[in-house]
Amino acid sequence: MSVRARFATHLAARYEAIVVEDLNVTGMLADRRLARAVSDAGFGTVRRMLDYKTGWNGGRLIVADRWFPSSKTCSGCGGRKPSLTLSERTYRCDACGLTLGRDVNAAINLRDLAASGAESQNACGGDVRPGLAGQPPVKQEPGTATADQTGTAAAQATATRTADTHIRSQFR
Ligand SMILES: [Zn+2]
Repeated sequence: MSVRARFATHLAARYEAIVVEDLNVTGMLADRRLARAVSDAGFGTVRRMLDYKTGWNGGRLIVADRWFPSSKTCSGCGGRKPSLTLSERTYRCDACGLTLGRDVNAAINLRDLAASGAESQNACGGDVRPGLAGQPPVKQEPGTATADQTGTAAAQATATRTADTHIRSQFR
């Protein structure tokens, strides 16, 4: 089994709901700094595997719209930064002072999005019911992880940081 398959199996077996983020992969591939990491990562492959593997386990895969500002939004107060470069790995909110790892902040926003039911489609394009209860998901950015159509591997987890580290180590 490939690393990607093991990763998808691990997540699908462990978590009831997994949130992935739809990313503009074509745009990323045009960026020379990101292209290698993005093309190596196989986001689409991982997303497809997560889709059917969550189904096997009675869970579900939720896809956040690519325009959802998961990284720029403060998970504490909802404030939004006008810009955030990829090199800024720590999120510091000018409004409320929250300081958090960029990926953790984004993961919380994705979890909250899923919990709000605001996302409208699952990975198969079907309707998803609102009301997901979960713990912090795990967010990955291009350059640190996977990609094709999906940039974020997210899972509800009690140990977000642990899971994040796990994913990073799998995909380095
Ligand atoms: Zn804030």
